[in-house]
Amino acid sequence: MIISDALQLFTESLSAVYDKDEIDSIKYLVLSDILQTSKAKLHAFPDEKLDEATVQKFQQIIQKLQTGEPVQYILGHTEFYGLPFKVNPSVLIPRPETEELVEWVLSESQKLKVKSQKFDSILDIGTGSGCIPIALKKHLPQTQVTSVDISAIALQTAKQNAELNEVEVQFIEADILNPTHNPQLATRNSIIISNPPYVTEHEQLEMHTNVLNHEPHNALFVPDNDPLIFYRVIADFALQHLEPNGLLFFEINENLGKETIELLAGKGFKNIELRQDMRGKDRMIKANL
Ligand code: GLN
Repeated sequence: MIISDALQLFTESLSAVYDKDEIDSIKYLVLSDILQTSKAKLHAFPDEKLDEATVQKFQQIIQKLQTGEPVQYILGHTEFYGLPFKVNPSVLIPRPETEELVEWVLSESQKLKVKSQKFDSILDIGTGSGCIPIALKKHLPQTQVTSVDISAIALQTAKQNAELNEVEVQFIEADILNPTHNPQLATRNSIIISNPPYVTEHEQLEMHTNVLNHEPHNALFVPDNDPLIFYRVIADFALQHLEPNGLLFFEINENLGKETIELLAGKGFKNIELRQDMRGKDRMIKANL
């Protein structure tokens, strides 16, 4: 088998599971990862011969992809904000929308540094793979970055990712919905950020099976009758734990922009700003006390 045959095999084998564009991105991702080469080289040398072990590896990967298992879990890693992250089914796969949120936080933190004497700490709530706090710490090395997650197993992955990216982030295992007194969480922060679960049970019905059957439900889903449960609790927490000039950032459910703004306004937050993601969906919010 040569490279072009392998590419063709991915296309034929996955047509029932993914659309053409997704197959294209998946197949180049897999081949460049396994062959440790670039997409450009795959293009340039389509006649390169593949050894038997590599062909077998591709066949195993195709079988997993056919079950809907996300390619990032199969390969065990992904990229977020230009940085490498290990991923496994205990953590949500970092999304490109969340990179846009990180971008916003970084640009606002520059302004906050100028405006405020004190810009020194960030708290991330519901950290998962650690993608948000690690990307922020990488770009704000002077800032103390702390992150919280309910899942001990997710935190193990997040810690590995902090090591992989050579940054120091403090990790705390805690349930933000039932916070017992935790002295590490008692301090005030310059920024509080969260990408909490926000997909309603109802919206599950429209989800692709590769998300639904493979990604952690405790990172994704909220009850239909209380879809903003995390936003309410985290906003209350922020009222107590933000510094006077501090900022609160959320990734949000694209269908709940108005409701999330109302919730924050009702709690007294000011300068509430809603932003769309690159697909034009209401996706993130910033507010201050
Ligand atoms: N954006 C993710 C998705 O649609 C959900 C992330 C979350 O619930 N925080 O799969």
